[in-house]
Amino acid sequence: MDNSELKIIAKELGFAEAYLLPPPDLARVESEPSIIWNTEEHPWAKVSCLLVMPYSPYPADCRIPAYYIASNRSYRASVELAKRLEAAGARCLRAELPIKQLAVRYRAASPCRSSLISIPPYGTRVVFQSMLLGSSPEHPFSPEEYSVAEDDMCASCRACEAACPAHAISGDGYDVKKCMRYYMDGADYPDWVYGIQRTHLGCEICQQVCPRNAHIKPTEPPEEVVRAFDVESLAAGDTKPARLLVGKNITGRGKLQKEALNFLKRDGGVR
Ligand code: SF4
Ligand code: SF4
Repeated sequence: MDNSELKIIAKELGFAEAYLLPPPDLARVESEPSIIWNTEEHPWAKVSCLLVMPYSPYPADCRIPAYYIASNRSYRASVELAKRLEAAGARCLRAELPIKQLAVRYRAASPCRSSLISIPPYGTRVVFQSMLLGSSPEHPFSPEEYSVAEDDMCASCRACEAACPAHAISGDGYDVKKCMRYYMDGADYPDWVYGIQRTHLGCEICQQVCPRNAHIKPTEPPEEVVRAFDVESLAAGDTKPARLLVGKNITGRGKLQKEALNFLKRDGGVR
């Protein structure tokens, strides 16, 4: 298998792009042990593969997180891709890589003020999966070159700064410890997050206002998704269908139920 064949399979599985970049060579960040910052422990790794799956957002007033549904879909697709690579005898390891740093450094994406990265034509509406690949005469994977033009959209725009309800974006840049997403990995959020969160599991407000995404029109969630995220059902503890859609790992310890109870108490039963 080679670069071209890998890309064909990745497309079949729903990925729009498979970027093949050099392996990471960054200093280890102890606070982020799940990320493979360099390949000291994986000297066989010759290529970082970043898999890109675009998604359409749901309308801004919808509490259902389109991002996490797409993320779970992309996770399952990356597991299948790894299986096919291994079946063909290629060496690979599905791994959390420093995706933003790699994509920006090797010009596969543009950095944004909101800390996200933008990939034309998908804007920031993408989910990523990543893996390390080996290279051998039978499977000669190799890094490729990319040339996403540096854009200066953020220089003349403050839309995300103005829209962020947590004031996490300012003239000084993005402050991760003020961002809602930073606190939403756990099961219990600080009260201020429950007070302002608009969607389950995460926040997409800065993406909703970003001109890089203006051409991506929201779509209504399918009926099956609406049913799974019915706020009354979630509040009553019927979370299984929603957990199947977004993945069990990120919804443990009654997280969806707590969010639904909060939405009902704070906003009533609307949408
Ligand atoms: S909203 Fe404006 S400032 Fe913020 S990331 Fe998008 S283009 Fe940059
Ligand atoms: S994800 Fe939400 S809280 Fe975080 S920076 Fe964007 S708008 Fe602010």
